[in-house]
Amino acid sequence: MVVNNGEMPRPRVGVLAMQGDYDAHVRAVEAAGGETFLVRTPDEVARADALILPGGESTTIGKLMARYGLDAAIKQAHAEGTPIYGTCAGMILLAKTIASGEKHGGQSTLGLMDIGVARNAFGRQVDSFEADIDAPRVAGTEPVRGVFIRAPYVAEAGPGVEVLGRYQDRVVLVRQGNVLASAFHPELTGDARVHTYFLKMIGAPADDGNGTT
Ligand code: GLN
Repeated sequence: MVVNNGEMPRPRVGVLAMQGDYDAHVRAVEAAGGETFLVRTPDEVARADALILPGGESTTIGKLMARYGLDAAIKQAHAEGTPIYGTCAGMILLAKTIASGEKHGGQSTLGLMDIGVARNAFGRQVDSFEADIDAPRVAGTEPVRGVFIRAPYVAEAGPGVEVLGRYQDRVVLVRQGNVLASAFHPELTGDARVHTYFLKMIGAPADDGNGTT
């Protein structure tokens, strides 16, 4: 029971818990001041003030989402303005198209962001690495430390997509309206600034690219 002492109630963030690193997102959201619960049913999707699609294996998560009817529920929540944040596999699931990269066997996605992603796009020899990402609109002057694990990048982005961060020439942090996506995992670094930015999207008007929230 949360005692309301005049402060804003803490937002309740649903973290999709089909597969992947959802526990790390729970810790990051709580560090950013949100409450969390794990999401495994359409009802739980509908109860969330905001949703996180974690990293993991996008084909597996996508199949499980479809099996439990979560894909339709997430599309519905998006249509109602619920902010959604996808990291890595979560970014792939949000994309409209999978542009290139490995064979994906007709992998279907939610298509909630006008982006095409390339999967596993940093090369097999570099399966994982860390890098500093400049993301001034999200995190101010201090770069965000990004953990990349068999990460995708954004190969194509439509006009409504705001590019918030790049690694070298590659787009790795984007927002479109109430949807945020990163190719990397800020939830694995102990730095909650990307999650803090995401929580501020709750209740804010959908931002179409001027980065003012
Ligand atoms: N390579 C994975 C995929 O394509 C994503 C990896 C990750 O989420 N860290 O689903």
